[in-house]
Amino acid sequence: MKRILIDMDDVICQKGFINMVNEFLNTDFKEEDAGSYYINDLIPKEKFKDWLDYFEKRNVYDYVETVDYAKEVIEKLNQIYDIYIVTAYIFRDNPDFSGMQLKNKFDYLRKEFPFIDPKKFIFVSNKEIIDGDIRIDDSIDKLMGKAEQKLLFTAYHNKKITNEELEKLNIRRVNGWKKIENILID
Ligand SMILES: [Mg+2]
Repeated sequence: MKRILIDMDDVICQKGFINMVNEFLNTDFKEEDAGSYYINDLIPKEKFKDWLDYFEKRNVYDYVETVDYAKEVIEKLNQIYDIYIVTAYIFRDNPDFSGMQLKNKFDYLRKEFPFIDPKKFIFVSNKEIIDGDIRIDDSIDKLMGKAEQKLLFTAYHNKKITNEELEKLNIRRVNGWKKIENILID
């Protein structure tokens, strides 16, 4: 069985941070408004301490939406591939929140993807140390490890990366789980 390493944030679930930030600021920002990968950068500096207090009392995975068809397609892939969910969990703005983030990620995966053996959840920072045949991630940096197929999952922060740039890195862009199904399941 070929091994697939599947990222979690912005690949199987999305919009958690933007929904929480909008609730905190009482705004209607879109993810693109952040101008970078980090949605938290929308928070004004003077409110940042209050934001951290707010964040610590909540579970960002209560605010996420599961990406369309992620469940259906991963359940099918799970029959014919060796599936691992590989996700980073260190919280940039306060590393002391990372244990909470890890637990919240674990609980979300158990609830929404009960068909995946929890022994196949990998919580890690450097994904390159994990071997896989196929990698699926929304971040180019996280696709740098060895693999025969690398799929960049389209997300708000990677839309400007051109196909020429991706080709040089041996990465193929995928717009959603139906496309992945199309590529990985005959
Ligand atoms: Mg991600």
